[in-house]
Amino acid sequence: MIKDFEYLAPKTLKEALTLLDKYKDDCKVICGGQSLLILMRQGLVAPQYLIDIKGLSELSYIKDGKDGLKIGATTTHRAIEKSPVIQKKFSVLAEMERRLASIQTRNWGTIGGNICHADPAGDPAPVLIALNATLSLASLKGERSMPVEDFCLDYFETALEHGELLTEIRVPPIPPHTGTAYTKFNVIESDLATVGVAVSVTLGAGDGVCQDIRIALGAAAPTPRRAKKAEAVLKGKKITDALLKEVGEVASTEAEPISDIYASEEYRRELVRVLVARVGKEALARAKQA
Ligand SMILES: Cc1cc2nc3c(=O)[nH]c(=O)nc-3n(C[C@H](O)[C@H](O)[C@H](O)COP(=O)(O)OP(=O)(O)OC[C@H]3O[C@@H](n4cnc5c(N)ncnc54)[C@H](O)[C@@H]3O)c2cc1C
Repeated sequence: MIKDFEYLAPKTLKEALTLLDKYKDDCKVICGGQSLLILMRQGLVAPQYLIDIKGLSELSYIKDGKDGLKIGATTTHRAIEKSPVIQKKFSVLAEMERRLASIQTRNWGTIGGNICHADPAGDPAPVLIALNATLSLASLKGERSMPVEDFCLDYFETALEHGELLTEIRVPPIPPHTGTAYTKFNVIESDLATVGVAVSVTLGAGDGVCQDIRIALGAAAPTPRRAKKAEAVLKGKKITDALLKEVGEVASTEAEPISDIYASEEYRRELVRVLVARVGKEALARAKQA
């Protein structure tokens, strides 16, 4: 049962930050409530004050410019999935959103809420890490930014400090000859990943040599993370099927999965091995066409 709380609905970002600063440890931010309400119903979280930021329309936007893509934190998953500019220029984000939860959850859940919930099995974080995205965090003291890959510290734990809100997700422009792909293995479609893998590959102009690669794993460790040893196997080389197989094997040794009701640790390692090679191949094919 949900314990009683006082509901506060600020109208502006400034007002929200002031409330966060005032109620500190006694409050919790809610946006779409798709993750938080489950925890509140289970009694795992029982804030005295609930600060609802869903109505902050100033944080709900998708903008594309020469600095890249900017997504406001209260933008829904569905808005990202359906955005024409995202479908055209950052299609991997739209593809990821299409497989996240059900349409009902995507209609109400937000990208900011998903990232701040810090579920290691969440879909957006690995894709954003592969895309080298950063986050803007605001408080009454000012603003700071950090790479998505540094944001999650442990299971359901983030680098957010008291009084801070995630306000924006920034994706830099995609370099030429770059392909990015994502997939997840899940037991029930529209559910969280048993393992998720995102890969971004940048090839040299004309020579097909791997100039840059980012491999990000979801549900394979306490936090979404890069498989940097696996990336090193490909960097500076012409990508072949044999190398991709090796990359999958190295990534599976870098993963730190757990056993739970969905999969054993061994099974998750095997998924990492197979999916990294498979998604790497798809990213390479896309890079060749880019
Ligand atoms: C049936 C179901 C299926 C799901 N399947 C998937 C799935 O397949 N893949 C997947 O990735 N997720 C899945 N989810 C999770 C869910 O969709 C996301 O976690 C959700 O989008 C969270 O967004 P929200 O706005 O509802 O966040 P809320 O639940 O409101 O908040 C989540 C957390 O983030 C904090 N928070 C929210 N916004 C901010 C902010 N701007 N700044 C600071 N803190 C903030 C809150 O305090 C809370 O701790 C599923 C959820 C359900 C209910």
